[in-house]
Amino acid sequence: MIIVMSHQAGKAQVEAVVDRVKEIGLRPEVSVGEDRSVIGVIGGNAYAYREAFSHLPGIEQIFQITKPFKLASREFQPRDTVVDVGGVLVGGDEVVMMAGPCSVEGEAMLLETARFVAARGARILRGGAFKPRTSPYSFQGLGEAGLRMLAAVREATGLRVVSEVVAPGDVDLVARHVDMLQVGTRNMQNYALLQEVGRSGRPVLLKRGMSSTVEEWLLAAEYILSQGNRDVVLCERGIRTFETSTRFTLDLNSVPLVRELSHLPVVVDPSQGTGRWTLVRPMALAAVAAGAHGLIVEVHPRPDEALSDGGQSLDFENFDRLMRELRRLLEATAGQPA
Ligand code: PEP
Ligand code: MN
Repeated sequence: MIIVMSHQAGKAQVEAVVDRVKEIGLRPEVSVGEDRSVIGVIGGNAYAYREAFSHLPGIEQIFQITKPFKLASREFQPRDTVVDVGGVLVGGDEVVMMAGPCSVEGEAMLLETARFVAARGARILRGGAFKPRTSPYSFQGLGEAGLRMLAAVREATGLRVVSEVVAPGDVDLVARHVDMLQVGTRNMQNYALLQEVGRSGRPVLLKRGMSSTVEEWLLAAEYILSQGNRDVVLCERGIRTFETSTRFTLDLNSVPLVRELSHLPVVVDPSQGTGRWTLVRPMALAAVAAGAHGLIVEVHPRPDEALSDGGQSLDFENFDRLMRELRRLLEATAGQPA
């Protein structure tokens, strides 16, 4: 249930509603907008208690949310969420580029990549230190050593850093080294991990599960939000379909759809989404045209030597071309609604 306060309602009236929600044994989540406050009421069968609010002043409307996700919904928060990733704003006017290798393979290649992508306009460095690989015999990442390299390169370049965490017990460790925690497609429904990143105090990049619906994805975001962490960035990275000629099918429908359903920012990963470097640039541009707030792209100085995902990684020349084309696209669409 959502209680929408009148735009004239003062702080005391909002507090009276919050107190009443708690008295009943339900949980209030307040969203203070520019115009008015909205109180999300969390708990089983909350709508059955709507009469308990009928005599409180300052309430404009009480309605039941029919969608299963609440805190992630546009009804709960009409205005867009802007997530602050160590000073880089995701979800605002700027399309944020996150780029870097699939895996951190060593400090020299990481620094070389970071310097290049930063010079071309990337704001956030990506790089996996803990890699969730389909095969247990594939390169699993450098672990803590990789995190230390990310932190060192962050200092050297001023880029912010995003890296994946695969186990609830590693959340504190990864959070100490990075600006944003990535939850990968294979862990989108790892609820213990979602709750732990929800308590981490760090922004979270939540990849869509490769076999998950948009509703399941937003419910995964709800797990993080319900732990008090409001800094969730959604990431579309492609889904499994009957099509086998690309690694995944990049579902760009989801971008404008989640922007309708949710206030959370959404970015797109055309690298995992296509599995082929030749398709990354066109699909990156398509994602931005569809309204993505940012991109996360795999870049490697020598893709043919990469320890993971070389076939979908851009080399420097193609990343440079992507950034030039992206700039042209943004200039051409400036001022147009996304
Ligand atoms: C990655 O970003 O390298 C990755 C493994 O992503 P996903 O979880 O989307 O497959
Ligand atoms: Mn990868």
